[in-house]
Amino acid sequence: MKIFLYFAFNFFSLLFLPISLFSATNTVNISIYNDSKPSSVIISPFDGGYEVKGDDKFIYQLEPKDAIQIISEDNLIYVKTLNQTLGKFTRLKVIRKQGAGTFKIKSLIPNTEERVYFGNLSLSVYGKKIKIINHVNIEDYISGVVESEAGTKQNLEYYKVQSIICRTYALSNLRKHAEEGFHLCDGTHCQVYYSKNRINPEITKATEETKGLVIVDSDINIITAAFHSNCGGQTVNAEDVWKYSLPYLKSVCDTFCTAQPHASWQKKIPLSNWINYLDKKHNYPVNDSIYLACALNYIPPPDRNPHLLNTDIPLPLKEMRKDLDLRSTCFSISKIESDSVLITGNGYGHGVGLCQEGAMKMAERGIPFDKILHYYYTNIHLIDLSLLDFFKD
Ligand SMILES: [Zn+2]
Ligand SMILES: [Zn+2]
Repeated sequence: MKIFLYFAFNFFSLLFLPISLFSATNTVNISIYNDSKPSSVIISPFDGGYEVKGDDKFIYQLEPKDAIQIISEDNLIYVKTLNQTLGKFTRLKVIRKQGAGTFKIKSLIPNTEERVYFGNLSLSVYGKKIKIINHVNIEDYISGVVESEAGTKQNLEYYKVQSIICRTYALSNLRKHAEEGFHLCDGTHCQVYYSKNRINPEITKATEETKGLVIVDSDINIITAAFHSNCGGQTVNAEDVWKYSLPYLKSVCDTFCTAQPHASWQKKIPLSNWINYLDKKHNYPVNDSIYLACALNYIPPPDRNPHLLNTDIPLPLKEMRKDLDLRSTCFSISKIESDSVLITGNGYGHGVGLCQEGAMKMAERGIPFDKILHYYYTNIHLIDLSLLDFFKD
């Protein structure tokens, strides 16, 4: 299996397209503090000045070491500086004067850690909360997302993998919040974006070196770039977790993740809880001694299956994972002591698409980012976004 896939890497590498410049107009609109919904924030330039506009009129020149505080009041935005009141407005814009630069923003109510972002801001009030949209170049957004999603201690090839996945996700989900007037939120609902990339310059390098690259399927449509923490040794078909099948999200063997931090787990639950769950939730015949014995001693087959299958009553693993708060759907069951059941599992997450810990290990071993992506996603191509229309034509 592995040998075949390595040959497949080389074949698909021929289709790898050169990187070209991504248009400077590619700005994405991200709702920041989307989950915490602040009612008071403070904004201060980190480097360089910003123009502040209230209801489209210039109201203040914001320079480094100065700050404005914004408070939701009477369904309006109340703005003040360190020593003066600027008034109340329906909409507020904070716009970079010239060149690239960053500003600091901190939510005061609720009190959260300071964040730093590139780009501009639009603010408005809904209910008693402030809606804050960061208008940012997609590549600056991607490097912030990669730091939030992948951490700061990976190597360059892994950051390239994660950059391409996050860019692909962003581009295929630009309409996710269309009704609310922005592209994506900054929480786990979309992609975590809690700051610009602040710590690891390798992330910025990875984003730049893969600039504009996205993953497309054999019909040159941007893919659903699903990923998870650890597959436990074999990834899962999309149709086994979701309601539909996707030709590029097919189960593959993965020997790279099996000694990684989230490769295995255990959970002990009271025997009575387990029996009660099977009975009440799945109408499982727990009073039949043969069926009960099956439910107390289960080893999964080598190939992953959507059901727990050692009886003629298939129990849906996806549902069991959610109900019992298990890390994955790949697990065995054994009765221990007289009153407990031990669930022993592999992997962490839904198991579909790219396995992050497997990809990290591959990157550590010197396998290039494009080969890693071709390993986990079947029959895909990497393509520069600016060439997408050309290929579609
Ligand atoms: Zn969202
Ligand atoms: Zn894996």
